[in-house]
Order: sequence, then structure tokens, then C-alpha cells
Amino acid sequence: MAIDKNIKLPPKFREEYRKNIGSRISASIALFTIAGVLCAAIDFSETRYPVMGVAMIMIVGFVLSCLVAGLHRILFRKSWSGTITEIDADYHIRTKNKGFTKKLIVTLTIDCGEKTPRKFELLHENMDGENKYFTEAPYKVGDTVVFLRGMKYPMRYNIDTEDTLTLFVCPYCGDINKAERDTCYHCGKFLVK
Ligand SMILES: [Zn+2]
Repeated sequence: MAIDKNIKLPPKFREEYRKNIGSRISASIALFTIAGVLCAAIDFSETRYPVMGVAMIMIVGFVLSCLVAGLHRILFRKSWSGTITEIDADYHIRTKNKGFTKKLIVTLTIDCGEKTPRKFELLHENMDGENKYFTEAPYKVGDTVVFLRGMKYPMRYNIDTEDTLTLFVCPYCGDINKAERDTCYHCGKFLVK
């Protein structure tokens, strides 16, 4: 299912999103152009399989586009919206020399109006010892969430005034923000709430 037509994202947010996707596509095109120039400049005709050299450079161009601009998230993911029906938060604790790292994996089950609910795993962040920011899942059962092509995480939408969650996930970078913030502490993007 696509995005529910009743969901209206603020113009400021949509504008920033469009710009973000546009700049990431431009960066990918630039990387592919460099790869193309390299393919033209390097003479592979003496090699046993000339086509392999070209293919390798283009693959490197694609991998770099994914790493630098998250091209895979734009190409292979679709936008959707739904309602969270279940949240499963799981801590994985590993001891290290001086202390321990804690990894929180949150699995959201989201009803998108399809036959089988969607599962979304997030927050693979490692955290050191007593990080107080990561003690709760930053979503609630019953939340409407919107995921946009190119983003990392779904975002909560239309949160009521009685909301008790103190944390908010930035859909672009995945950083956890205090709920009262309007822009992401890490990447500076406007947060829809
Ligand atoms: Zn961010």
C-alpha cells in the first residue's frame, strides 16, 4: 500500500525532503559520471576480459553511490504508511574490556492495509553502558507511521497532545531526538510530529 491520502505532510517538510532526494540523486549521477569517464580513459583492450574492467568500475560507482548518497534506499524502497500494531524491543548486551555495549533492536509490526503486516527492524545502534537515551522504543502501539522512499526509518505522524513518549527518531539519519525538538540534533532536518 502506498501512503494514505489523508496524510498531509507540512509543505516545509515536503520541500526539504524533495531537496534531500534531489541532492542525493545528483551526487549519484556525479559518481556514475566519474565512473564513466574512468571507463573511457582506461584502456582495457589489452586485458583478457575488457568488459570486466568496465563492469567493475561501474559497480564501484554504484556501491559508492549507495554508501555516500543512500541510492539503494531511493531505488529499492517504496513509500508507505500504516499503524503500529506491535513493538518488540530487544536488548543485546555484550561485555567488553572496560564495560559493555548494549544494542537495542526494535521490531515494529505495522498494519499497512495489506494481508500480512509489515515488519520493520530498527536501531541497531551500539550504545555504551549507561546511555540514558535508549531505554525505550521511540514508537508506540497505535502510532500512525509514514515511511518515505529514500529514508532510513518510518516517522510518527499526527501524535496527540497526550503523548508520553520523550523520544523521536529522525527518519533521515536515525538519530534519537528529544521529543520537544523541531529539528534533528544530528542532521538538522525538520522533524514532522
Ligand atoms: Zn537526523
